[in-house]
Formats: sequence, C-alpha cells, structure tokens
Amino acid sequence: MIVRADAAGVRRAAELLRAGSVVAFPTETVYGLGADAFSPTAVGEIYRLKNRPSWNPLIVHVADVAAARKLADPWPAVADELAAAFWPGPLTLVVRRAPHLTQVGADTGTIAIRVPAHDVALRLLAATDLPLAAPSANRSESISPTTAEHVLRSLPEVPLVLDGGPASWGIESTVLDVTGEVPRLLRPGALGLREIREVTGALALPNEVADGSARPSPGMSRRHYAPRAKLILVDEVDPASVDDSVGVLTYETAAIPGAEILSADPREYAADLYAALHRLDDAGMSTILVRTPPPTEEWLAIRDRLSRAAA
Ligand code: AMP
Ligand code: MG
Repeated sequence: MIVRADAAGVRRAAELLRAGSVVAFPTETVYGLGADAFSPTAVGEIYRLKNRPSWNPLIVHVADVAAARKLADPWPAVADELAAAFWPGPLTLVVRRAPHLTQVGADTGTIAIRVPAHDVALRLLAATDLPLAAPSANRSESISPTTAEHVLRSLPEVPLVLDGGPASWGIESTVLDVTGEVPRLLRPGALGLREIREVTGALALPNEVADGSARPSPGMSRRHYAPRAKLILVDEVDPASVDDSVGVLTYETAAIPGAEILSADPREYAADLYAALHRLDDAGMSTILVRTPPPTEEWLAIRDRLSRAAA
C-alpha cells in the first residue's frame, strides 16, 4: 500500500519497522526497502523480498554522524571530513564494523553507512530511532525505483510504501571505502569524483572504471539495474533499426519518433534515466537501444549503470 508521508504515515511506517517488518521509503537517490539493520529477521525479509544474493551487502542509513560513529571502529578522520562536506547526501562510506554489532547481511567485517538527504527518510529515522538497512526497493538486478509506484510494481508484497514524490537524484549513492590509507571508489554514483577529490586529495578507482570509460564486456560486468527488455549500447541510433518492439533512449535531440530523449546534462539525465527505462519496459519493448553517453568523468555513474544493464 502507498501511504502519504505525512505525520500519520511516518508514524505507521515507524511502528512497522520497530515491529521487525520492512517498509519502503524515499531517499534523494532512489527508494529504499528499509528494515531494522540489526534485526536478523527483518534483514532476512529484505533479502527474501528482493531475491538479493546473500553475498551482496546492505547500506545502513542513519540520522547523523554521531549515529554513524557508533557503528564503526575505527571511525577514520577522513570519514569525518567527508561527512562534514557531504552528509546528509548521496555518499556512502564503508568503514570497519564495530565488533559488538551483530553481522546482518553479507559478512564483510565492514559496514556501509550514509545519512540520506531526504526529509521523509530523516523523519523516519528519527521516529524509529534505529539504523535502517535500505537497499534499493526493487527485485535484485532490475531497475531501481524512483517513485512509490515503481516500488509496488517491482515488490507488490511490501506492506507499506511511503510516498515522497520522485527521487531528486534518481541514481544510487557513490560508495567509498575509507578503511585503507587512500579512499577507494567502490561504486560510482550521484556524488561526483571531482567533489570527493576536493576533500580527499587522492582517490583510488576500481579497475573496471580506472580510465574513466566503462567498457561493457559480457562476463566482466555484473548484470544489474536491468530492464526486462534487452538493452544495447550504441554510438549512434540508426532510425532504420527502430520499429514497434525497439525502444530508443537518447539525449539531446534526435529525429526518431517515440524515442525517450533525456537531457545532455548528466545530473538531469540521471534523474530521468530509471523512469525512462521503466516506461520503455511498460510499453512492451523487446529491445532498447541506448545512445552511449560521453566518455567523461561526469557521466561515469551513468555509464556504469548502463553497461551493467546491458550485461
Ligand atoms: P544497494 O543497496 O542496492 O544500493 O547496493 C549496495 C551496494 O553498496 C553494494 O552493492 C556494494 O557496492 C556497496 N556496499 C554495501 N555495503 C558494503 C560493504 N560493507 N563493503 C563494500 N561495499 C558495500
Ligand atoms: Mg540496488
């Protein structure tokens, strides 16, 4: 059921979470499927509903830096600098997990934490007074939800979805491992690398994106963020290859009838990307041709999502 995120809605959601149930809620990145991060049954329900593989760890959402510190040991100095610069916001920090905490989700010895920049998420965190594990509220591997309706279509069993309107960023958080000497990018996302480097100086990149050009190579890229339709990245969309079963996703203008045309600004493109893929899927397309975005760093997170969706 979709519920307005007014005071009564947030109270109902908090009651469900405190009783060990799951609730979907809006964040500024995408909608999350939330549960008490230290309840094995509640977290088990996240994995079951999403059909998420047990090796895939969860991001824990907290209300502020003080709450984050309690989950980590040690809490490194660079985490404080990053939190001061970007929290609340779309940056997830991977730190060593405090040893007194029970492991929920994949056992990595680490914990991934962020403070979401969304009024509804923050009100929910305050009302539950719990750290909330919250992966994207969709079946594993499929497109992330940027509206409450997307959540219910992907996960009809979720007892309650708080509706906070469309997600403003529309793409997942940037994930940084700060357990080592040099912070390492684990997942490109909403927060850009240029902004992060202004705080950290050096930043290590994962191998697949080391040269800033994610090259989709079957078997190497893990499939994720994928529509039901087959997604194919192309340099140029050939209008002759388009018919009723072939959808097109491009940016700027294109003389192709029925094409989803997104902005040439990466922030605006990201905000619309998942909704456009949902629409093309709902229109019953068997194939979606996607014009490859520019090879620059500002488009890194978008290229990452598209190459995994095409895997
Ligand atoms: P999602 O919850 O679907 O947004 O995805 C969470 C992602 O965060 C995972 O796929 C990992 O990339 C990353 N992540 C979460 N927890 C950890 C962790 N402890 N160590 C490394 N990466 C993590
Ligand atoms: Mg996800």
